[in-house]
Amino acid sequence: MTVEFDQQIGKQEAAKQPQRFVVDFWMTGRCDMECPFCYGADVPTASRIEIDNSGKDQKVYLYDTTEETRAITGKGGARPEMTLTQMQEIVAKLKDIGVTTLTIAGGEPLLRPETPKIIKFAHDAGLEVYLSSNGTFFKRHYNQVKDYISVLGLPLDGSTPNMNVLMGRREYLYKNIQGILSYLGANPPQHKVKVGTVVSRINIADIEQIGQFLYRSPGQCQPDTWRLYQFEPLKKGAKNRELYEISDSEFDDVVSRLQLVFPEAQISARSNNDHMNAYFFVTPDGMLQTVDIKHRSVADLLSTSTEDLKSIVGSYRDTQIRASKNREWLNSQ
Ligand code: SF4
Repeated sequence: MTVEFDQQIGKQEAAKQPQRFVVDFWMTGRCDMECPFCYGADVPTASRIEIDNSGKDQKVYLYDTTEETRAITGKGGARPEMTLTQMQEIVAKLKDIGVTTLTIAGGEPLLRPETPKIIKFAHDAGLEVYLSSNGTFFKRHYNQVKDYISVLGLPLDGSTPNMNVLMGRREYLYKNIQGILSYLGANPPQHKVKVGTVVSRINIADIEQIGQFLYRSPGQCQPDTWRLYQFEPLKKGAKNRELYEISDSEFDDVVSRLQLVFPEAQISARSNNDHMNAYFFVTPDGMLQTVDIKHRSVADLLSTSTEDLKSIVGSYRDTQIRASKNREWLNSQ
């Protein structure tokens, strides 16, 4: 009886274990796009030239510190974008505290020449790596990263170039994504492909047409996951909410309709409520952040020991569980 009882309790405890421990690693806040709903890494506010170890000029990007960062580090002033060595140290630290999955994001992560090296480093350390890119630098870097990623994530917010522009994307986004999906159709990848769409007042009537483009275009790679994001008034989005915002019920209705129209698609919806307390971020200057109605720094990864980090992260157990649930779509076949 006791053994059965213990087994039952063991099963209940196992059910509470997050399947993954996911951290979003923002390589940079720089991006070739300036989407009006972006809530990725902050954009650097300044830069300076430094001489690196080999005697070459190196441009260093600087980020303003937030109130929480100053409270943690005890220092004001700007912090530089991390070097390759610093990023590798942090990836190793994250692995040591039990992180299983890194989302490599930004800004546009492939703007940094160090990104393919970090992806390989994380993969070789045994981490699952998901690359979230806007696709602009795909041709330049894809062959360097394709063997080390589990998923490539790409955006598409309209079924036409014009709808993407109306959403605030650059005019070349549509053509780039079309080109990448055609390339992957002809060269089937080992990794999975995810397409993400921000659903807003502007494109809500076009979402079904995006599905037609993704799932009914001959010769194109069909995404393993189509992830629908409810527009969220965070960061830049907060200034543009009147133009973009949709209600929870409007979002739910779109998702239900699409699931009926595209039964072959794995559609994964992320409402604003799902976003809340469901992420850990590494900022380009090395802070660990969480997010509720705003992003909050909780540790300086560059100076916090692995032991202290374990205990800090341990106090965000719910965030770990929600972050894992939020990325269940990574299991798609
Ligand atoms: S492409 Fe992504 S990271 Fe770049 S500005 Fe747009 S939403 Fe932000």
